[in-house]
Amino acid sequence: MNRRYRKTIIAGNWKMNMTASETRKFAEDMRAIAPRAKWCEVVVCVPACNITAATKAFKDLHVSVGAENLYYEKSGAFTGEISADMLKDLGVKYVIIGHSERRQYFGETDFSVNKKVHAALEAGMHPIICVGESLEQRELGITMELIALQVKSALAGVSAEKVRKCVIAYEPVWAIGTGKTATSEQAAEVCTFIRTTVRHLYGARVARSVTIQYGGSMKPANAAELLSQPDIDGGLIGGAALKAKDFVEIINAANQD
Ligand code: PEP
Repeated sequence: MNRRYRKTIIAGNWKMNMTASETRKFAEDMRAIAPRAKWCEVVVCVPACNITAATKAFKDLHVSVGAENLYYEKSGAFTGEISADMLKDLGVKYVIIGHSERRQYFGETDFSVNKKVHAALEAGMHPIICVGESLEQRELGITMELIALQVKSALAGVSAEKVRKCVIAYEPVWAIGTGKTATSEQAAEVCTFIRTTVRHLYGARVARSVTIQYGGSMKPANAAELLSQPDIDGGLIGGAALKAKDFVEIINAANQD
């Protein structure tokens, strides 16, 4: 983390979990444990149907509500899809774009990711752009090439001013939901490489202001070590964000003085 130049953000990704009543219960549990979120922003990205419930439940907890996806068109005949303006109107501040599960199961491509990043920014939200390599790609030694391609294509056509509003989450696919965490060296190496890629595109001042998260089996036991890396400015957390106690412990790890 480097709190001087950029925000630390701890964001939960609930995926297709939690009903509206479970959302209220989670917020009550969080309130009872009282997280120390002095130095970081806390976000919970919830299924779209629970955004209103989450906004109410997290109101006094200083937790921003995020979405897990959007569709890039403004409106029209796109049955089942949700636009950036619809999310913004519900008070959504952050939206996950290009999660590997969406790339893997729902045909998300670098091209659609870029269109969604533009749509989120245009609506005034902060996209959390997910990038990451598969195990095969890591073993082939092409991790950095792949990450550079994903970052460059996600940000294509995005102005320097707007890039400051983007969060980039490095999520190695082999570490998501598997219990296998990247070592802090592996995570730091790629997060530093992402910042270097942003620096080549936008210059040093912009690059140092962009929040870069690590995601992939982050949990209370490994959060402090990962977050102590200078280029890791927070976490995108799946499984451990479904248990209030674990999530609060990760928030507390990001808030040590
Ligand atoms: C994720 O889905 O973004 C994620 C990081 O999941 P997990 O923490 O469960 O690996």
